[in-house]
Amino acid sequence: MPEGDTPAGVTERHIVQAACPHDCPDTCAMQVTVEGRGRQRIAVRVAGDPDHPPTGGALCTKVSRYLDRTYHADRVLTPLRRIGRKGEGRFEPVSWDLALGEIAQRLGAIAARDPERIVPYSYAGTMGLVQGESMSARFFNRLGASRLDRTICASAGGEALKYTLGTKAGTEMEQFANSRQIIFWGTNAVVSNLHLWSRAQEAKRRGARLIAIDPYRSLTAERCHEHIALLPGTDGALALGIMHVLIREGWLDRDYIDRYTLGYAALAERAGAFDPARVAAICGIEAATIERLAHDYWHVRPTAIRLNYGMQRARGGGNAVRAIACLPALAGHWRDPAGGLLLSTSGMFETDDAALERPELLAGRTPRTINMSAIGDALLQAQPPIEALVVYNSNPVAVAPQSAQVASGFAREDLFTVVLEHFLTDTADYADFVLPATTQLEHLDVHTSYGHLYVVANNPAIEPLGDALPNTEIFRRLAARMGFTEPCFAQTDEQIAAAAFRRLGASPYDWERVRRAGWQRLDVPGTYAPFAQGQFPTPSGRCEFHSARLEAMGLDPLPDYIAPYEGPASTPELARRFPLAIISPPARNFLNSSFVNVQSLRATEGEPWLDIHPLDAAARDVNDGDHVDVFNDRGSFRLRARVTDRARPGVVVALSIWWKKLAADGKNANEVTHQRLTDLGRAATFYDCLVEVRSAAVPTPAP
Ligand code: SF4
Repeated sequence: MPEGDTPAGVTERHIVQAACPHDCPDTCAMQVTVEGRGRQRIAVRVAGDPDHPPTGGALCTKVSRYLDRTYHADRVLTPLRRIGRKGEGRFEPVSWDLALGEIAQRLGAIAARDPERIVPYSYAGTMGLVQGESMSARFFNRLGASRLDRTICASAGGEALKYTLGTKAGTEMEQFANSRQIIFWGTNAVVSNLHLWSRAQEAKRRGARLIAIDPYRSLTAERCHEHIALLPGTDGALALGIMHVLIREGWLDRDYIDRYTLGYAALAERAGAFDPARVAAICGIEAATIERLAHDYWHVRPTAIRLNYGMQRARGGGNAVRAIACLPALAGHWRDPAGGLLLSTSGMFETDDAALERPELLAGRTPRTINMSAIGDALLQAQPPIEALVVYNSNPVAVAPQSAQVASGFAREDLFTVVLEHFLTDTADYADFVLPATTQLEHLDVHTSYGHLYVVANNPAIEPLGDALPNTEIFRRLAARMGFTEPCFAQTDEQIAAAAFRRLGASPYDWERVRRAGWQRLDVPGTYAPFAQGQFPTPSGRCEFHSARLEAMGLDPLPDYIAPYEGPASTPELARRFPLAIISPPARNFLNSSFVNVQSLRATEGEPWLDIHPLDAAARDVNDGDHVDVFNDRGSFRLRARVTDRARPGVVVALSIWWKKLAADGKNANEVTHQRLTDLGRAATFYDCLVEVRSAAVPTPAP
């Protein structure tokens, strides 16, 4: 849309409607100001769209620097072929013709023997439906490659909601402004859910009470009226403890329970075992805190819970979410649009996955599935072995757990690795070929959200830089080289975007309309209260405290507390040797491993820090600012100690995720994490990890 008339000799300026592509619930609508025409066109400003109702024109610090990412001097802008050892990061530029020819030949030879030996590895480097799993999924389906279980972030909670509420839906973000009490459970909204946080501020100004439940006094926790610093991985016990008090006191919406829930009697019996004294001992908090929390949960109405992924990164993460998701139904908080619970709204979007991914290309084959959260083990142990890995929208060498295993797997000389990337990340350094991918300003896409109810369009603002290509075009060209002639490989990005949804709530989906407007709200009621009258999309139509589906799978049909894999209760001997729990939540200026290489953002973070409580520091003769080694039997990494009561006793905190190559010792927090999986959803358990800390002046024992 032209900003105004452009007299001769004056630079032409346009604003292009766009979307933030990052793994964040807010999915901001953006406006990119561009100058010039064609390949000379440059983006000069990235800002939020002030008219987009949920995000209102405010971008976070990271993405307001998106131009620093797109025009970064280190962008990979031509195909690269490895000339050094794996992991060394030495490459030579080659043509697309040579790169695609050689990749097609290598993949073709493996596929002729056994296509399952080829594995895609991708996650949410972009959340776009077009540049995510569309042409890429078609390519791997046609090939018959192994399937990837995309579990590294959200699958424990997603499964938990499915078995409890029936879908990923919840309280609308805008409604939090009207809540009288908001519980931030396992989430640092200031950093990772900015626009919900601004609604909470609005609610606070009107007198609402804010509570944070988090092992760490995060930026969010310090701004809440109350902070409950429980031990990592014990959230399920706390939810059952609250339930225990609600039931004991009769603080229950009996009418809601009778009409809209299933399995109350069995749940009440289960919760009976979680008296506050027992729960207090498990969680490392006071019993009185549990009593007060339950009291306020019933008496302050409406109360909304903003649940996030923190508590899911432990063995019992799925059950913890199930237990918490039962609370609004017990207390009747779903009745009010500003009550209830929000983990994710992604289930509200009826994406047409079959149109995007074309499962018919599998032609009846059922390839094996590789779990991305255990990629280290898979690369070293899977049978038949993985012979080729194609990585896009992800940086597993930095972000996958138990990094030494992951790096060993990637270092295998007999593994053929292709990485689609913007930069030479820790993962790209192990590639045989690095293929230059476009950033969000250079390609087309369409986005759902997992935090609000709007579809957001991303129009390309500028031409691709250098020789970069959109993911879709890379897989399109690769498919042509492999001789795949199905018409779906000729679809344009426009056509893919146009086929992305079945409908938007009650209305038909019209891509042209969305792309012109920039965004469109799902056609659901203006004051949205998803479960005010039940209508849970479960098999029973009720909120399922008791899940027959879980029972049929041989799993516990009721939510329970499952102790972490590593902890004094589960592994007392290990806990004697490694007495500290470690968590590694997002640093404010990074988004997973994205943005770590943007100098201005990295400079704000400074260097990798370990927050450690004064008592734990004193016991180890560690002073503020000392370099320390964090270690366990899996590995170690070095960072600088910040002695602070932001960390509770017994828990250390390493804000993350640093690129390993940008840390002084070439390592990050995933050196110490393990690859065991959650109870539901087969997800990673990053925050279920015991370590010891010692001053770097003292040699660290070899793992
Ligand atoms: S990362 Fe989140 S808050 Fe930041 S611009 Fe993107 S969607 Fe908005």
